[in-house]
Amino acid sequence: MSVEAAARRLRDSLSGTVRSNEPMARHTTYRIGGPAELFCTLDSVHDVATTLRILGEEGVPWSIVGKGSNLLVADGGYAGAVLVLGREFKRHAIEGDLLRAGAASVAAVLVQEAFGRGMAGLAWAVGIPGTLGGALAMNAGTRDGSVGATVDTVTLFSPEEGLLLVHGSDIEWGYRRSGLAGRGIILEAALRVSSGDPIQVRSAMERLLKERKGSQPLGMPSAGSVFMNPEGASAGRLIEAAGLKGLRRGGAMVSPQHANFIVNDGGATAADVAGLMRTIQTTVKARTGVELRPEIRLLGSFEES
Ligand code: FAD
Repeated sequence: MSVEAAARRLRDSLSGTVRSNEPMARHTTYRIGGPAELFCTLDSVHDVATTLRILGEEGVPWSIVGKGSNLLVADGGYAGAVLVLGREFKRHAIEGDLLRAGAASVAAVLVQEAFGRGMAGLAWAVGIPGTLGGALAMNAGTRDGSVGATVDTVTLFSPEEGLLLVHGSDIEWGYRRSGLAGRGIILEAALRVSSGDPIQVRSAMERLLKERKGSQPLGMPSAGSVFMNPEGASAGRLIEAAGLKGLRRGGAMVSPQHANFIVNDGGATAADVAGLMRTIQTTVKARTGVELRPEIRLLGSFEES
């Protein structure tokens, strides 16, 4: 693998930027994460195709990232190229009942845009950070809805097959997972956002935001819920019942407000967060027999520490 050769070739070929040793703490809502060997902003489909070809030829692994709001990056960083989508993938337009948007569009902007045009279909998503691409990869959702249910089509770039248009009904949508993961880079999607009564939509959005503000530690860096809810149970309640609220490791803490959030209380490392995650998993398993599975995605190498 030759990262240097890949960097040289990418700098000569892309309209987007290519940085070396970019601290990932700048690109995650945790504000945690060591350097990515390469950090490339891909501004066009041409950039995407060229980058995947060059990285493939040079044997450099890659990972696509949105706003890093569901991501814990190792303190040692990522040995490969982190890719983010830029300019061409930030556009959106409403056509009839469809909201067509690039995968780098900020989810909150789309929610507001849909609401501003009297569309009801995304009200449930108010307050979810990140990009449309991240939301689709994760099938982001709440108890009131999930993005997969709104998808008409998704456009992907697959390293093997190039550009693909996939219908929402042909994609497997699960709890915090989608059949899109691992198939390539999501470039854009068309979402069905039916019209609704603006007063009702506004009051639903206000209620949901109020609930979030009341129950989540939004003033502190985090990646949202760390663990998925096990079948028929709440991860937060299991963690709270195990007496783990407020537990600290280094700069990381199990939020006293919401037990399924681990917050960065200042200077937390990825090892601090990962260590707390292991303590939570072993304690809850010993008490209840339930194995908590992470919702957040890990990037880089996490040796036991
Ligand atoms: P990232 O964190 O950057 O990436 C997440 C995953 O998506 C990674 O595996 C990445 O490889 C993949 N990915 C990103 N972009 C693409 C792309 N273009 N193509 C292919 N794969 C891609 N989530 C919920 O579901 N519901 C909630 O209510 C919720 N509340 C949250 C509250 C807070 C305060 C925070 C910090 C997070 C919350 N989250 C919630 C988690 C997170 O916001 C969502 O999962 C979000 O959709 C992730 O988007 P992102 O752009 O930040 O993705």
